[in-house]
Amino acid sequence: FVAVAVSGERSYDKLLGGLLADGFDERTCRSRYQSVMYRRRPGKQPSSYLVSKLRQQEALQRRCGPGTMAYSHALEQLRSGKSSGNTIAAQDCKYLVSISYRGLGNRILATASAFLYAMLTGRVLLVDPSNEMGELFCEPFPDTTWLLPPGFPLESYTNFSISTAESYGNMLRNKVIRTDAAGDVPAASQQLPAFSYVHLDHDATEQDNLFFCDEDQRVLRNISWLVMRTDSYIVPGLFLDKGFQDELARLFPEPDTVFHHISRYLFHPNNHVWGLVTRYYDAYLATARQRVGIQVRVFGSQPNSPELLEQITKCTQKQGLLPELLTAGAEPVTQQAPSLNTKAILVTSLKSWYHEKLKGMYWERAAATGEAVSVHQPSHEEFQRFGAKSHDAKAWAEIYLLSLTDTLVTTAWSTFGYVAQGLGGLRPWVMYRPDNETHVPDPPCGRDVSMDPCFHAPPFYDCRLKRGADTGKIVPQVQHCIDMSWGLKIV
Ligand code: GDP
Repeated sequence: FVAVAVSGERSYDKLLGGLLADGFDERTCRSRYQSVMYRRRPGKQPSSYLVSKLRQQEALQRRCGPGTMAYSHALEQLRSGKSSGNTIAAQDCKYLVSISYRGLGNRILATASAFLYAMLTGRVLLVDPSNEMGELFCEPFPDTTWLLPPGFPLESYTNFSISTAESYGNMLRNKVIRTDAAGDVPAASQQLPAFSYVHLDHDATEQDNLFFCDEDQRVLRNISWLVMRTDSYIVPGLFLDKGFQDELARLFPEPDTVFHHISRYLFHPNNHVWGLVTRYYDAYLATARQRVGIQVRVFGSQPNSPELLEQITKCTQKQGLLPELLTAGAEPVTQQAPSLNTKAILVTSLKSWYHEKLKGMYWERAAATGEAVSVHQPSHEEFQRFGAKSHDAKAWAEIYLLSLTDTLVTTAWSTFGYVAQGLGGLRPWVMYRPDNETHVPDPPCGRDVSMDPCFHAPPFYDCRLKRGADTGKIVPQVQHCIDMSWGLKIV
């Protein structure tokens, strides 16, 4: 059975091969079932195993989530500070509270990572609603909520940091938790705390990063509440953990589709953002024969850069993404009637200068291919702002619009671009980061090796050998990123 949406002559698989659950009220979240109509490429099919695990996770979220007896009981235990013992029974509910922060791209990657970890470890995912996380997306789980309700007993949890005593790394260092058998007490029978904080920020210590080792996962498995803070896409790290490898292989027979599937499952723009996406798409992009997305990540304090403009044009023209220009005054031979040969370029950036320059170029001179090239930019917010509602809504709409293009050019290091490429199932052209601002990198860009995002702050430790190692060489699915040499990504 395939649930279909029909638009004109075409029918669409609105549940994306079973990735999405049926039965949500379409009006409360129009993007959930409508997005398929806006994608020219159908996206990858999820494995039937992933589909069944998603339904199981939804059932778990309903059985243990906010408002249930199980949830009240688990909160009670957390308040008392006592654990239920040293092992948790299979039917007991366990929780992962995800705190995400920094820009929207970072927050989306962090939340997707937390969701996969929750699914791998049988935990209920609860998302800290601050930083607009409660306001930009629809509810992903039917008949429950993924938002952590107010009144969570760990009052200062949003301030947890590297120095929090209950962090997993600090508890290991202070021997509150042990993974080895020391003294008379075997690690398996130690008294575990009711919760632990998992610190996976850029400044994570070696002990914090032991999170990615199987021995440590065997201890964490028996702690009912975990609070995780990261701004990164930690999934490549999970692929390094031997204990998760078989399950990950079953869930994702095509390993580089992890974020593609999770993001299309979890992140549905709410109706306000979906209005921004569809109005823009319908007005400026829908009728073009081809759409090219160019993500120009700049920072408010940077001056407009002719070198970056040169990098954009060199990259796109060399790779045949945008046409070359004829010399001034020359006309293409083929053009007789108004052209249907149209190409729309969607530029996203905090600044408008790059868009204006590109637009001028394709107006003032003819494209060698005879194509009519239009250049569009939804907004130019000038500066990155934290915690501003309309700012985040525009950022989310623009990420989504980029994901609807046929070809994507992104900026190195940017999580904003990673989210767009994953949602769209696109392997982008990545504009390399210049060594210095006055130098155009040569080559200006390269084709990414996969659509999955890059993990910027990975561990450099081999859990089996118990020593530092190049973690890009441990398993074939995890390699270094082309835009950040020390980063890790799934290929
Ligand atoms: P990253 O810093 O490039 O990894 O991306 P993030 O999304 O994590 O943070 C950048 C933030 O700056 C975004 O979330 C937006 O708030 C803002 N921003 C950056 N580039 C753009 C853009 O092209 N359009 C809009 N609307 N906002 C942007």
